[in-house]
Amino acid sequence: MPPTTPSPAAKKSKTTVNGNHQSGGNNGGGRGGGSGVGAAAMPKSAGQMRAMFEELGLPTDPNNLYGQTVSTMLHAAEVMDLPDYLRQILAQPKNEIMVHFPVRMDNGKTRLFKGYRVQHNNALGPYKGGLRFHHDVHLDDVKSLAFLMTMKCSLVGVPYGGGKGGIKVNPREHSKGEMERIVRRFTTAIAHNIGPDYDIPAPDVGSGSQHMAWIADTYSFLSEIGGNNPIAVITGKPVEYGGSLGREKATGQGVVDTLVEMLPELKLRPDRCTFSVLGFGNVGSWSGKIFQDKGAKMTAVADHTGFIANAKGIDAYDLSDYVAKTGGVKGYPKAGAITKDEFYQTKVDVFIPAALEQMIQEPEAEMLNCKVVAEGANAPTTPAGERILMERGIEVLPAILCNAGGVTVSYFEWVQNKTFQSWDLDYVDRELNKHMVKAAQKTRAARKQYSCDLRTAAYIAALQRLQQAYEVRGIFP
Ligand code: GLU
Repeated sequence: MPPTTPSPAAKKSKTTVNGNHQSGGNNGGGRGGGSGVGAAAMPKSAGQMRAMFEELGLPTDPNNLYGQTVSTMLHAAEVMDLPDYLRQILAQPKNEIMVHFPVRMDNGKTRLFKGYRVQHNNALGPYKGGLRFHHDVHLDDVKSLAFLMTMKCSLVGVPYGGGKGGIKVNPREHSKGEMERIVRRFTTAIAHNIGPDYDIPAPDVGSGSQHMAWIADTYSFLSEIGGNNPIAVITGKPVEYGGSLGREKATGQGVVDTLVEMLPELKLRPDRCTFSVLGFGNVGSWSGKIFQDKGAKMTAVADHTGFIANAKGIDAYDLSDYVAKTGGVKGYPKAGAITKDEFYQTKVDVFIPAALEQMIQEPEAEMLNCKVVAEGANAPTTPAGERILMERGIEVLPAILCNAGGVTVSYFEWVQNKTFQSWDLDYVDRELNKHMVKAAQKTRAARKQYSCDLRTAAYIAALQRLQQAYEVRGIFP
């Protein structure tokens, strides 16, 4: 929620008055620093929230993604009464790396590119998270996504912290050769800031297994810094080159595992559900295919090229083949074109946003005609959008739970690389399901304990594990 407009849930939440702020950010602040347990419980006023944002150096613009994601964590921290020193540590990333690097284009000219790697937290293990290749990547987006990785890895029980990176580039505008040179040169620029035991990137929006192969190969050339199996520096690689079976579909598989686990309590059966998907890239298309395999029916799809619907059902496999050939859903012959508003207004049981951040704002939340939002993308719902969904009784399965399948199978890939093993697909799927079900159970337990919404509960479950780690490890020196 923006700091000046706490959500209804925030207004209701119990908290204690903090009389014990610690100084310093990531590097210190000392232990303890909690708000005194037993002190008078009262919600933080808008003024107190603003003061906290100022102290933590957070953006106060309510539309800023970083401000939004961190304030969601701070809300959960209030509800569970997380010690102040942890709020301070988690409110900012440990390292923000920005690089500029020149690349020769096919026409012989040189272009300068900008790349990022943000390392948010490594209390639970090496930094982990994807690399986004998109023309509209900014530092605050990467910071937000790195922060979300810390939360996600903690919740889903993998031994990683959170990181994220990217290149400000539109991959669709470049030839394969140009992309290869861009990716290899970026890898060289950040090579000393990543490593198989330190920071392990992966695919994200706009990047895929071929890019990961180039990164692994480039990094291997610098192998004095890579240990005995340098390709473990990156996950999401092609199966032929150290990748794991099941990684490509893993995020979609995790979305469906979460739905299968959570739908019964909402009195919904996967095999009787209708659903729509926003974004038909890796996450959207695999969510669609796997949910369809469970008997659900996809009736509307949108992507950057258009909006389509067919009440009788759209075959997700067939649409995937079409998109692979044409680059988008527009013109798909077995469904009709609809408008953006019609897409959001399509009556479905489950809506799966699987595109970019901040796509479900107030107008979209007002229009949605579904019972459940299963967040396949990171941070697709703004706090203002979420308030409307809550008021309208639409359940949101939060991204840090719902889309954690990708990083979970990344972890399996890394373990396989480290131990020179290869797991079969059934084993990967079974292990993934165990992680997803356990994360869902932890989320439900936190919801019960704190009588809160699912997003707050997922954050609380993630924060609990981080808190336990910080309590035993302390803060150096
Ligand atoms: N980019 C994916 C995410 O946001 C996967 C990260 C990973 O596998 O490390 O979760």
